Amino acid sequence: MLMAGNTISQINLSELLQKNFGFNMFKGEQEKIIESILSGRDTFVLMPTGGGKSLCYQLPGIISEGTAVIVSPLIALMKNQVDLVRNYNENENVAHFYNSTLNVGQKKAVEQDVKDGKTKLLYIAPETLAKPDNIEFLKSFKISFVAIDEAHCISEWGHDFRPEYRKIKDAIKKIPYHVPIMALTATATPKVQLDIVKNLSLKNHNLFVSSFNRANLYYEIRYKINDDWAVKNIIQFIKTQEGKTGIIYVLNRKSAEKIAETLCLNGIKAAPYHAGLEAKLRANTQDQFLNEDIHVIVATVAFGMGIDKPDIRFVIHYNIAKSLENYYQETGRAGRDGLEGNCIAYFNYKDITKVEKMLSDKTVTERERGMLLIDETVAYIESGECRRKFLLNYFGEEYDSKTCTEGKMCDNCAKPKEKVNVTEDISLSLNIINSCIEAHYLPHIMNIALGIKSDGVASYKHDLMPFFGQGKDKNEHYWTSVLRTTVIHGLVYREVEEYGTLKLTDKGRAYLKEPFKIEISLNHDYESEGEIVLAGNNNSSMDKELYNILLDIRKIEAKKANKPPYVLIQAPSLEEMCLKYPISEEEFSHITGVTKAMAAKYASAFCPVIKDYVEENDIIRPDDVMVKTIVNKSNDKVKIIGAIDKKISLETIAKELGLKFSDLVDELESIVLNGTKLNIRYYLKEILDDEVIDEMMEFFQKNETGDIKECYETFIDDDLPEDDIRLVKLQFIGENLM
Ligand SMILES: [Zn+2]
Repeated sequence: MLMAGNTISQINLSELLQKNFGFNMFKGEQEKIIESILSGRDTFVLMPTGGGKSLCYQLPGIISEGTAVIVSPLIALMKNQVDLVRNYNENENVAHFYNSTLNVGQKKAVEQDVKDGKTKLLYIAPETLAKPDNIEFLKSFKISFVAIDEAHCISEWGHDFRPEYRKIKDAIKKIPYHVPIMALTATATPKVQLDIVKNLSLKNHNLFVSSFNRANLYYEIRYKINDDWAVKNIIQFIKTQEGKTGIIYVLNRKSAEKIAETLCLNGIKAAPYHAGLEAKLRANTQDQFLNEDIHVIVATVAFGMGIDKPDIRFVIHYNIAKSLENYYQETGRAGRDGLEGNCIAYFNYKDITKVEKMLSDKTVTERERGMLLIDETVAYIESGECRRKFLLNYFGEEYDSKTCTEGKMCDNCAKPKEKVNVTEDISLSLNIINSCIEAHYLPHIMNIALGIKSDGVASYKHDLMPFFGQGKDKNEHYWTSVLRTTVIHGLVYREVEEYGTLKLTDKGRAYLKEPFKIEISLNHDYESEGEIVLAGNNNSSMDKELYNILLDIRKIEAKKANKPPYVLIQAPSLEEMCLKYPISEEEFSHITGVTKAMAAKYASAFCPVIKDYVEENDIIRPDDVMVKTIVNKSNDKVKIIGAIDKKISLETIAKELGLKFSDLVDELESIVLNGTKLNIRYYLKEILDDEVIDEMMEFFQKNETGDIKECYETFIDDDLPEDDIRLVKLQFIGENLM
């Protein structure tokens, strides 16, 4: 398969490298890998992204007799790779791709070039390879070797399983002479490796494993207080990354759209990227990102495989990845040039439950596998040890965390977590699980520990259990952590058939008789620590002192206007002022729920007081972080406002939008709370007597807080549903908005 008449020892690979690719030196083990395939041996290459993987087959392909066939999973990626090779070579025909996007004429031309020996690298999709017609074509020319890129796609344990990859070997078998195989991947756990070797029946192969350590990447996990907090936190972070580009990974299309929009509203050039967008738009977004017209891509996992941008400076996981392999792969897109790369992942247990729910329609084996992957991810999150060490051990690599600790290159090395002895609480958890006759889900067990008499707990009479409430001095977060730990330590297993109910293992029963010490690392609670990641923005929790001052001003102004205070400016707006400290009319109008007209009227009352307060207390205002929400721009909201203008009945609106009635009322509330006027009197007249409406309006006028319960009790004889009361209140607030 070598160039005619040469043996390996006679060719000078470095010279050929210089001639064909212009590099003076091989990186890492590239040269040995190339020698291996040139000698006709099956070759397995495990190399992290950015390690120079593709050169390992490009160079031997170009210098060998015949044509190298490269199996690659993504059609978009293929074109990109072919362009790159052509870029180095004066001969356009040196590389071609062969897939379903070619028409008959183009296909013929490619086949002719290959048969004429002009083409050295032929990129082919796995599904194209398997077609009977194409196998005839494969037999018609001399194949130097077959390279299988992204070989982890073969394994169901990999993060990107593709069934058509399993058929590659059958196709290769049909070629009447021995063809060496090179399998390449940037990520493979020992389990995945074994799968690849077995499936491709690699024989007597040479294995090349490069270190998976990405020394330039900084890893951090942040506990996500709630979604809004996380978005604000992300915006604050990106504001410190002036001019740099990054990717935010989210779980679904909706979050991708919403977060991208919020970023744009806050002056960050961002765009969503997911499988639901048209191919043209996606390609366009990708180009804009490469050209840096867009700085941040908010993407589902559909993004990134085809991206070859070396200077991505941050990768944020808004939702934690589905597996550690995904996490490693996705964070690996940061800092491929070896320079700075920040990898920040947000997590809370609700997100993990969401991922688990996504498994519910899968087969039992898939679910089992999925849950195992999630458990490994949770173990990584919970861990107090060096993140880098944990990740590399996961990939079967030993790592001494000294370098990471010295460089503070992960959160656990930079700021060690507090450890807590949970031995007794593990026993309590096991006792509770053991005492329940039927198996229950995690929240049920947690409710018993916390002493919460939920419907479920009540119906099983578990509130009568001696353990009920024995852990009520700790919170939900703590107990979730402890219960997850029982699973991580193999004391409890989750029944896959029943989708995740908890049962004791033999080890768990043994633990009850003879407990041993277990410690967990407490995750940093950013809210109670008052800690916000970045300097200068230590205002994560609201300023309560200022809040009380603003309440007083609101009262005075309300009296002057003869309106109840809560109508004048809503509480969430006041809370926002205690985070953002607006001191001018302009800034005041940026507060959610404050209209320009309201600002014109009330800024003069509030702003000077806030200004004095800021000066007296030496507060650094986060003036660069004006997080605006997209509430008024959401599609449903625009439709609702339009429909109400047309006086369409609320039931009809709810039905058309596929909303429950109470969800529609929620939407209406948020519209009004954001300062948009709504007039739903036409609807109220349909459902209530005029008299009742008037009396209730009067109630809301006089009542200081506008409390729905109080209103309900006042009008108890009318037996009004809560939604109706909420609607009248909405109308009242709407009529008083300016
Ligand atoms: Zn570390």
